[in-house]
Amino acid sequence: MRVLVMSEDPEFFRSASAMAQKLGGELLGIHPSESKYVDVLYVPDLHDGWEVPLADFASTLTPDVVVTGGTRRDKTFAFSLAGKLRSSVASDVTELSLGDSFLLAKRVVYSGMGIATLKLKLPAVVTVQKNVMEPDIRKGEVKKVQLPESNVKVLSRTPAQQSVSLDKAKIIVSVGRGMGSKENVKYAEDLAKVLNGAVGGSRPVTAEMGWLPEDRQIGLSGNKVRPQLYIALGISGQPQHIAGIRDSRVIVAVNKDKNAPITENADYTVVGDAIEFCKVMVRRLSK
Ligand SMILES: Cc1cc2nc3c(=O)[nH]c(=O)nc-3n(C[C@H](O)[C@H](O)[C@H](O)COP(=O)(O)OP(=O)(O)OC[C@H]3O[C@@H](n4cnc5c(N)ncnc54)[C@H](O)[C@@H]3O)c2cc1C
Repeated sequence: MRVLVMSEDPEFFRSASAMAQKLGGELLGIHPSESKYVDVLYVPDLHDGWEVPLADFASTLTPDVVVTGGTRRDKTFAFSLAGKLRSSVASDVTELSLGDSFLLAKRVVYSGMGIATLKLKLPAVVTVQKNVMEPDIRKGEVKKVQLPESNVKVLSRTPAQQSVSLDKAKIIVSVGRGMGSKENVKYAEDLAKVLNGAVGGSRPVTAEMGWLPEDRQIGLSGNKVRPQLYIALGISGQPQHIAGIRDSRVIVAVNKDKNAPITENADYTVVGDAIEFCKVMVRRLSK
């Protein structure tokens, strides 16, 4: 049994290593530095567009199971490798175990209300969610890898307008359809600024109406966030949104409907107008 772990992100790499170690067998890793959790670590020179050339290289290692992180680039690598290995695939898994020539993978379904167990034929490629499991320390042998040039070139990069990323933000001010218009989003941005937080949004305001960029979407099909404080402005709290915020420490809902579903998940509910709330808070916090 040969298991390969890969992520560009150290936290994901640790989560993936912890899950992969439970499977037993020889553990190979690909990462720029994290050698202490695997038996052999391949250190590639990562350049723009490394995902596909790295998948080409990984396929030569003929792994039975591949466990990767969940960043966009990790997933591009994973699905490219799955194509080359003609393997089964599953994304965002939370637990792994081995059966007789198959892999069992658990993943959260129904917006966090259930868990599905998938049976994957080997070889199998899975992407994992971050978890708190700590991998055992191993004495990894390190091997350098020279990757061929990529067929994909990055022509330009435009910095995002947001300075605080949703992933790292301790405070998130999140807007929903209840903000009323794209122009009104600035009240939420003002509040986020005085709190040194980030702005996110529900699916309608990001992917559908374009009040915020799509990468600001929070929920089942967007970012899963875990801030200390999550302020939901004019968000009804459908299960698909709650799936992305349930790990927040404190949830404050601001909604003019005291019976909005989000009140069931909120630690505090302010019944009132979201824009008024922003104006008052900015005034108070700026004093
Ligand atoms: C497969 C699938 C995946 C999905 N993934 C996601 C996802 O990742 N993220 C996501 O968010 N959604 C997702 N959705 C959509 C989800 O089901 C809901 O439609 C969406 O979350 C609703 O967004 P909302 O709360 O902004 O809008 P609404 O449901 O329209 O709620 C607006 C809320 O604002 C309140 N309101 C109105 N005016 C004011 C005011 N002036 N002040 C205060 N409150 C006010 C209303 O009382 C209401 O509660 C997904 C749906 C599907 C089918």
